[in-house]
Amino acid sequence: MYWQKELETMEDARIRRLQLKRLRETVRAASRSTFYRERFQQLGLSPEDICTLDSLRKLPFTTKNDLRQAYPFGFLAVPKGRVVRMHASTGTTGRSTVVFYTRADLDQWTDLVARCMVMTGARQGDVFQNMTGYGLFTGGLGFHYAAERLGIFTIPIGSGNTRRQIHMMREFETTVIHCIPSFALYMVHSLHAMGIDPRRDLPLRIAFLGAEPHSEHVRRKVEELYGVDAFNSYGLSEMYGPGVAFECPAKDGMHLWEDAYLPEIVDPGTGEPVEDGAKGELVLTSLGREAMPLLRYRTGDLTAFCTGECGCGRRHRRIRRIIGRADDMFIIKGVNIFPTQVEEALLGMEEVGNNYQIILKRKDYTDIMTVTVEVQERFFRGDPQEREQLRRRMAKRLREELLVTPDIELLKPGALESTGGKAVRVVDKRDIYEGGISDT
Ligand code: ADP
Ligand code: ZN
Repeated sequence: MYWQKELETMEDARIRRLQLKRLRETVRAASRSTFYRERFQQLGLSPEDICTLDSLRKLPFTTKNDLRQAYPFGFLAVPKGRVVRMHASTGTTGRSTVVFYTRADLDQWTDLVARCMVMTGARQGDVFQNMTGYGLFTGGLGFHYAAERLGIFTIPIGSGNTRRQIHMMREFETTVIHCIPSFALYMVHSLHAMGIDPRRDLPLRIAFLGAEPHSEHVRRKVEELYGVDAFNSYGLSEMYGPGVAFECPAKDGMHLWEDAYLPEIVDPGTGEPVEDGAKGELVLTSLGREAMPLLRYRTGDLTAFCTGECGCGRRHRRIRRIIGRADDMFIIKGVNIFPTQVEEALLGMEEVGNNYQIILKRKDYTDIMTVTVEVQERFFRGDPQEREQLRRRMAKRLREELLVTPDIELLKPGALESTGGKAVRVVDKRDIYEGGISDT
């Protein structure tokens, strides 16, 4: 049943011992990079001062900005000749950052992703269509090598091109897919246009959904539309890529692999740890990594630890579905809002389609929030009154959830496009009006 049973079901005390051993190695390794060498000097600390898991807190956080400042090699902790690959983050929130891997790093990463895939039931005999970008983005190659390590027939198709994806799925009888959730929902329109009902016509059974925040509704929609079991996949290039945390068949939070990562959840404002089970920003320290160890890296992602044990028997702690990035949050009329809250409120409605976007503008010193949302085709054929009523119902639900009443614009199914990359959920146009917030 388990691929790495001993590791995955290891008792708490043993995990902590393993973490401490690897932490000490990691701190020593990190101190060989220019960035951490200088940091240790400034703090008057030596790597040996980090001698317990808690003493890690003597170190300040490492931020995305630190990575940008140290571009390109400031975090490299091994001679350049030992690097065998680099990747870069997508650059969703600014200039992208680069990450390096030694051969041993690629080995550890591949192992982690393979462990995730096995956990969901993917096996030799499956046909795996990897529908995320290859190249600098970690999603493509990360899953690719893991699938090959497991001996799974892999189609490295990459992202985009929905019709080609569908032809491949049909002709090669794909059983497992990996894609960005918004793309899975977008592709449904092409499937229907081609007269294909994935439940009936395709042997799909598993979907890995990752790389962007999505709600439980989106998971359920993908499961219903495709007839698959969908699993949430979390990772970030700064921590290798996918394979940091992943859902098991219990689908109650994602197991975060504690032999490879040391997690903390902190209050994004104060940086202090939150109470167990409370929401905060995930901070990760890599364990066992050679080329680019990162200590207390602020992911910017908001989540919480799940409490209690998981029914699957794995002991690695679980984190909840990511609510969003701390910097995804926008403030409208003084209220803090995450796109996933809009998603929670709307995508639970049966009339609503598969995609939405939030547009922020400012007029006469007032913020205006417009939610554009795809709804079922029938609303564009029938009585305009019905459309109006639907708009009102939506506005009411959003007001209850967000405490702000947005304008709502209804769109036909498929109107909002997806290229297979991360969905742009918020378009903030306020900077072109009266000096509002700009998103750099
Ligand atoms: P960028 O930060 O430039 O988008 P990456 O491609 O490395 O670069 O993306 C990592 C980020 O993607 C994570 O920090 C997180 O915000 C988001 N992400 C990845 N997987 C998930 C997931 N399953 N749920 C929510 N957000 C996710
Ligand atoms: Zn589990």
